[in-house]
Amino acid sequence: MQNNQGNLWQNVMDQVKTWARVNSPWAIHFNSGSCNGCDIEILATLTPRYDMERFGVKLQGSPRHADILICTGPVTRQARERLIRIYEQMPEPKFVVAVGSCALSGGAFQGCYNVEGGIDQVLPVNAYVPGCPPRPEAIIDGLVKLLQALDNGTMPEPITLKPGVAVPSKSGNPA
Ligand code: SF4
Repeated sequence: MQNNQGNLWQNVMDQVKTWARVNSPWAIHFNSGSCNGCDIEILATLTPRYDMERFGVKLQGSPRHADILICTGPVTRQARERLIRIYEQMPEPKFVVAVGSCALSGGAFQGCYNVEGGIDQVLPVNAYVPGCPPRPEAIIDGLVKLLQALDNGTMPEPITLKPGVAVPSKSGNPA
């Protein structure tokens, strides 16, 4: 009897935590080598025209307070360790969204001597937003799909925003 009450209480707490997480996710943005095109589009999502905050998404500065890491650009050799450190400083559970072709695969910078590739070369990516750069609507759509996946319990499987475009994620934590 006591065990059943314990399980019930745990279920209620899990539902409350998921509800809170889905309705007020805090995000941090990191540019690991982008041309700034994708970064400008992310800023546009915060303007009154697109108003990403209406979904409860708040962009803020500390990885220690963030649920979602929004990444732009390819992973350069210079930024690699910083990207991993930011990810490691985020509390669990945490999610990664790769924004733009460069974040997906290296894009325009693929093959450069200082580029390691897309974000999923070093971090487990949960959502991919293709485009060069993706429009603000696409970025918001990616975040909303991530939140929906979180809400209906299909995480942590990587989600594909457009069939045939997304790159398979590498599982596990960075080496
Ligand atoms: S996807 Fe396009 S806009 Fe975004 S960082 Fe790469 S080159 Fe720049």
